[in-house]
Amino acid sequence: MMLLSAPCATPRWYRLIWGATMKESTMLLEVKDLCTSYGRVQALRDVELSIDSGEIVAILGANGAGKTTLLNTVSGVLQPNRGTVVFSGRPIVGQRPWTICRMGLSHVPEGREIFPGLTVEANLRLIDFDGGGARFSINDVLDLFPRLAERYGQLAGGLSGGEQQMLAIGRGLMACPRLVLFDEPSLGLSPMLSKAVLGTIRKLKAHGIASLLVEQNMRAALGIADRGYVLRVGRITAQGSASELLNSADIQEAYLGV
Ligand code: ATP
Repeated sequence: MMLLSAPCATPRWYRLIWGATMKESTMLLEVKDLCTSYGRVQALRDVELSIDSGEIVAILGANGAGKTTLLNTVSGVLQPNRGTVVFSGRPIVGQRPWTICRMGLSHVPEGREIFPGLTVEANLRLIDFDGGGARFSINDVLDLFPRLAERYGQLAGGLSGGEQQMLAIGRGLMACPRLVLFDEPSLGLSPMLSKAVLGTIRKLKAHGIASLLVEQNMRAALGIADRGYVLRVGRITAQGSASELLNSADIQEAYLGV
């Protein structure tokens, strides 16, 4: 089309409205100046971060630092007061969580939020669309979590904590995501199951799927992450490679809540 093939001729109004999407971005997710509040409590302050395709990025911080708020704002569960979130070149602030999920951004929330009155199969079949990432069928999910195959016809409410976490992850994968947001995926799990869950996130990377990982176990998170950000009282105070952060004084402060 004329407008796109001859940028000089693009009207000013068009550039103003669509500037964010026209600008070439190589990052899968770009968050800028993000501020989110609960009434007078400002939980996120000018947060900036990015994730490349296939990267595992950890978000680290003490209780109340704003980690869950960040994931909920990116996935559309919460609306920010200010700032932009661009996923795959498209601004997504203001879109409904369901629409964002269809674009290839899955959220595995803290607490799992599976449907306890539905069977494992029905929970998995609730999501059946293609978010543009690696394709996952029900059989692929059952191959990844053989335990779910054994529980396939059972009500999800009767599953153990670890099985419910597998189901929540499996349901997220049914959307064929390009990015998955994980909120404390090993919370309440035994060390062995936690290791298995984090191992699954590493497997997703091998499929080209990126992960934004909030994890209580900082060492375990940085053990699988490529990079990380430290969030402290709603602000990003440090960022770097996993090994840089493991040796950072700031991260110790953030975890000690000093
Ligand atoms: P945790 O590790 O304990 O889950 P977090 O880093 O995920 O903590 P958030 O849950 O995002 O932190 O909370 C960030 C801030 O927002 C905290 O000060 C918290 O008290 C506040 N907050 C969170 N949810 C609400 C809410 N529904 N209403 C009011 N304030 C809230």
